[in-house]
Amino acid sequence: MTANSLVESDRTHLIHPVTAFRTHEKRGATVLTEGKGMYLSDIEGNRLLDAFAGLWCVNVGYGQESIVEAAAEQMRRLPYATGYFHYANEPAIRLAERLAELSPPGLDRVYFTLGGSDAVDSAIRFIVHYFNATGRPAKKQMIALDKGYHGSSTTGAGLTGLPAFHRQFDVPHAWQHHIPAPYAYRSPVGSDPQAIIDHSVAQLRAKVEELGAGNVAAFFAEPVQGSGGVIVPPKGWLKAMRALCDELDILLVVDEVITGFGRTGPMFGCEHEGVSPDLMTVAKGLTSGYAPMGAVLMNDKVYAGIADGPDNHLPIGHGFTYSGHPVSAAVGLEVMRLYTEGGILGNGQVRGVRLGEGLAALADHPLVGDVRHTGMLAALELVADKRTKARFDGALDISNRLATAGYRNGIIFRAFADGTIGLAPAISCDADDMEVLLARLRATLDAVL
Ligand code: PMP
Repeated sequence: MTANSLVESDRTHLIHPVTAFRTHEKRGATVLTEGKGMYLSDIEGNRLLDAFAGLWCVNVGYGQESIVEAAAEQMRRLPYATGYFHYANEPAIRLAERLAELSPPGLDRVYFTLGGSDAVDSAIRFIVHYFNATGRPAKKQMIALDKGYHGSSTTGAGLTGLPAFHRQFDVPHAWQHHIPAPYAYRSPVGSDPQAIIDHSVAQLRAKVEELGAGNVAAFFAEPVQGSGGVIVPPKGWLKAMRALCDELDILLVVDEVITGFGRTGPMFGCEHEGVSPDLMTVAKGLTSGYAPMGAVLMNDKVYAGIADGPDNHLPIGHGFTYSGHPVSAAVGLEVMRLYTEGGILGNGQVRGVRLGEGLAALADHPLVGDVRHTGMLAALELVADKRTKARFDGALDISNRLATAGYRNGIIFRAFADGTIGLAPAISCDADDMEVLLARLRATLDAVL
């Protein structure tokens, strides 16, 4: 098939939701064909540096042969086994064990899903069941943050605090609520870190009071808000929210779908704050995008409330055909090995420092209003006027121009609709590739000036 006929066929048959703009106008989709290390090739023969790890997921980079071997070996041995009823499989058991070891203290029970949205859905169902089973059935209200992203299932989209995911659907549900994001650059209380923390604490407290503490089940937060534009809360924020959840007797759910597995430096984002949530959702870096998989982890308090005896049996009607899929689990195990023994986690910590320096050097670029960075996760919020922080007219246009300029300069990043550039390179990125990334980013900014 020629490049043109593939693009044409894509247009005819393959549905692309959330394509609010066409990156390369007349070309249609960029059809990717191969990946190696940090680089992707497309069907037209372009070689692009992927500064977004696919969709914040390919943490170990493309072309890791040991993962391919682990998957192939598992496919030969046992390609499928259900986690329903009395069945289990070795890779899923070993991966659950490994996750319990690597995750913050107390999160020892694991339920596997297919990705992040159904991990969030599963967490919600476990929480509802927990309060039913412990004699507090009124506790059903759930609170999340504006600009938070918790998936695209109907339930997850409702918890998501981005209006674009609500429009045309009847969400948020009546039991889903939002409070303002800890967004220093445009905060009504200014950029002082303590003021932002106090504001979030006051907002959550007020929302719980409004709903009645006896009715509120949980508060959901990402350690760093990813799809909302890489909003990095001030140091101490998550710790303060943890303390407030304890005081108000509501569960804290930390959504680590993006921040998990070294994206922000440590294995999990909440480690920066020494926080252990009651439940934690993960996906993406769990398998580094080589196979679909997510998980919910829960602590003993939640588990003891819902378990029926000691054998990890939950007496609820919930489960997926592909929960604990042996091939995905085998991939996940090898990915965990690469992070730890393979040194990729440590590499990301070193490289993340250079990413921060490189972006700080772009702060005085005429287009850059705000630089946000933690580890290998970052954003440049571009503005039409640095003094007033005015956004660009015709937001989609700036986003389109950015993505197109990036493509021409050989770099892929996330061009958010408001003109923010999101960066999440593979944490396996080497020193030379990081310099190429920073140079191409600057060239892209100059090209849209
Ligand atoms: N939670 C967060 C924090 C996410 O970033 C995402 C995906 N971007 C999801 C949940 C949903 O994950 P998935 O797309 O795998 O369903």
